[in-house]
Amino acid sequence: MLGTKLPICEQDAKLGALCKDCSLRLQNGQISDLDITISRIFSSVEDKFNLEEASFTKAIDMDTFIIIATDGNVGQLVGKKGRLVKYLSEKLGKLVRIVEVNEDINKAILDLMGQVSVVGINKVYKKEGHIEYAVMIAKDKNNKWLAPKEKMEDAIAQITGQSIKINLIGD
Ligand SMILES: [Zn+2]
Repeated sequence: MLGTKLPICEQDAKLGALCKDCSLRLQNGQISDLDITISRIFSSVEDKFNLEEASFTKAIDMDTFIIIATDGNVGQLVGKKGRLVKYLSEKLGKLVRIVEVNEDINKAILDLMGQVSVVGINKVYKKEGHIEYAVMIAKDKNNKWLAPKEKMEDAIAQITGQSIKINLIGD
């Protein structure tokens, strides 16, 4: 069995120290302390929750909740009857939201935005050759923002590895 796919190596997740490679990735900002904390939680409950084929890629602290991203099956990290997500919330002291992030960037953006009225996502080709995802959101009193606009842009960018710009349209 391969074990749960984590942002740090299996040994570090199990033993509680960081190897040279993982320390370097922490210093470079490729992984965060939160990623390490959550990796260790997953590692400690791998057998209990059958996580051999689960994947955890990145976590973001949104102050009022934590986003946990997976490029695998969301259901595995939620657990039967939501038991694992509940356990994570208790351990981390915050609500946890599991989000699937794969090649389908639009789907990931929609998932991450939550209950706001997204009217379009445009791929914008910038002069410098990089791509920016412009997310169009209709101003709507029923929009339920999970976090302020700038914080959402930053979180989505970190999780998807893409540039994100959220634009509010209409009055
Ligand atoms: Zn390591």
